[in-house]
Amino acid sequence: MASTSSTFRITPSTAPLSAEQRQQQLQSIQFGRVFTDHMAVVSYRNGTWQDPEVKPYGPLSLSPASSVLHYGQAIFEGFKAYRQPDGSISLFRPDSNSERFNRSAARLAMPSIPQELFIGAAEALVAIDQAWVPSGSGESLYLRPFMIATDAFLGVRPSEEYLFLLIASPAGEYFPQGLKPVSVWASKEYVRAAPGGTGEAKCAGNYAASLLAQAEAKEHGCDQVIWLDAIEREVIEEMGGMNLFFVYRDGGAPVVVTPALTGTLLPGITRSTLLNVAGDLGYQAEERRLPLTQVLNDIASGAISEVFACGTAAVITPVGEIKGRGFAQTINNNENGPVAMALRTALLGIQRGTAPDTHGWLHPVALG
Ligand SMILES: *Cc1c(COP(=O)(O)O)cnc(C)c1O
Repeated sequence: MASTSSTFRITPSTAPLSAEQRQQQLQSIQFGRVFTDHMAVVSYRNGTWQDPEVKPYGPLSLSPASSVLHYGQAIFEGFKAYRQPDGSISLFRPDSNSERFNRSAARLAMPSIPQELFIGAAEALVAIDQAWVPSGSGESLYLRPFMIATDAFLGVRPSEEYLFLLIASPAGEYFPQGLKPVSVWASKEYVRAAPGGTGEAKCAGNYAASLLAQAEAKEHGCDQVIWLDAIEREVIEEMGGMNLFFVYRDGGAPVVVTPALTGTLLPGITRSTLLNVAGDLGYQAEERRLPLTQVLNDIASGAISEVFACGTAAVITPVGEIKGRGFAQTINNNENGPVAMALRTALLGIQRGTAPDTHGWLHPVALG
């Protein structure tokens, strides 16, 4: 698809960080706290998207009556720009994020945004802030597109005006102390998503509703929460804001199994990517219904050799222990497993351009 980053009016910052200040920020990257010099903004009014613009990063001015502040019409995405070995920059699967963004928009009764604008915003922002894309191992520029409802109206109905924004934050090695397994708490108190609800949409409210369960996990000494289905509180769905994989290994080649999409799971792009990468590595990959009781039995019997979570931010995180009321089960001696590590290395290689991009997942950015 033709690049339309040129349709964005560019207003360069008059006070960007100096090269030295930027270098300082990039030296000890704190994820999600530091943002690049610019942001992309597109407005939706009178039924159309208009005024695509890249301008200095800064506060928004909103009416206190803006409907997003009251009724929560807000969706977001997350994907990354990776520095390639030749110094160029590529986005990873931005088309998939664009498609998912529009599915989220549809669920929240928000307008869809053309893919040319969604990807064009990323291209224009990455081009002007290209010096912010780090090149170290495990480093990238995290891109955060989002859409909010801006009608200044307290009536409950879909807003008629919206803002689409894209901001960018340099991301360092997600595990500066080295990758080590997380512990997870299987919550039977709280659910993330129910059939017919918004579980498949990347909407802000899903995260607000997850915070108390995350706090419950912490109280039980766990790093993250595991979400079970809303009805039986038994079928495993996902972990915090990441999808889960279980490695079955009964003698032969590993089989990597992830919970099937039921409408209540967030369809992760890393999840779908890994189902392909697993095939590349000669593993069998399956999507299945995974009841907690069966998974715990399979871990205990050794049929499951590894569990790991995946998502854009951390790529792959091994899970070393599953706990819940009345049980605690260690996985793979609480160590990083070989299948998770092989998948992680293979995926990072494709993203960073050190392994061939056989699936056509990289989207090069014209740096101008
Ligand atoms: C974003 C998200 C994921 C992971 O999706 P990716 O596209 O792989 O980053 C998984 N679960 C939830 C709840 C999410 O919000």
